[in-house]
Amino acid sequence: MMKNNPRKLALEILTNFGIDNPRDVTIEDVIYALNIPLKYSKLTNCDGRIIHGEGKSLIVINDSIDFETRRNFTLAHELGHYLMHRNDLIQHVDDSASLAWFDTKNKTKISQQEIEANTFAAEILLPTHLFTEEVYKQPFDPNLIRSISDKYNVSRSSIIYRFVEMGNHPICVFYTKDNKVSYWKRSKDFNFKIKECTRIPPPHDSVAAEFFDDGTIYPLNESKQEISKSTWLEVKEEYADDTFYEYCLVHSGTNLTISVIWED
Ligand SMILES: [Zn+2]
Repeated sequence: MMKNNPRKLALEILTNFGIDNPRDVTIEDVIYALNIPLKYSKLTNCDGRIIHGEGKSLIVINDSIDFETRRNFTLAHELGHYLMHRNDLIQHVDDSASLAWFDTKNKTKISQQEIEANTFAAEILLPTHLFTEEVYKQPFDPNLIRSISDKYNVSRSSIIYRFVEMGNHPICVFYTKDNKVSYWKRSKDFNFKIKECTRIPPPHDSVAAEFFDDGTIYPLNESKQEISKSTWLEVKEEYADDTFYEYCLVHSGTNLTISVIWED
């Protein structure tokens, strides 16, 4: 059970400031409007943190985050911590692990706080009702993910994550780190049997394997790649060559790929 209700809190803030659509303001505007001290500073191995002083806390963000979407998400995440956890947040340093919103397997106290901060961040940057409107009756397509990502300044990976949860088209997402599939997640209505693939390299004929084999990254207009149904799925012989698609999002800096597979 969540102690906090991060989604509700995010919506309350937007409502209180009369923000109908978060595209109209920046998350920094919101932090300033809430009178929360914010500082950009050099941080080592860390994107953001909260510093406690006497009766006062401060949000500190790494001044060298190169992606705007990542900086935005970090700002929103720290704002979530500030509002929900600042009194019992111990030794809090956010790096790529705690900011990986998709990793919800650990249920320790700190992780629970991270899940709450990430849920808060996702909601304040792009409220669920707006996301639902954006994907209403939309088939999955890399262009759809990119257009929502650009419109709201939210990372593509977080849009994919939400599409799994509440999109209108069944997809399955595989996270591969350092050439090993770490785990996968599928939409409720994705009714196919997934091959045993965790803790081993991605299937040899997958788009993810192409990246890990020789660094292949497809240009935007080719990001919808045709694969076989049997690439990632356990299927009967007669369906093995049926057409499936893979969109492989590459984070080369962290040697991570996020593969989305779907059928048209
Ligand atoms: Zn955090």
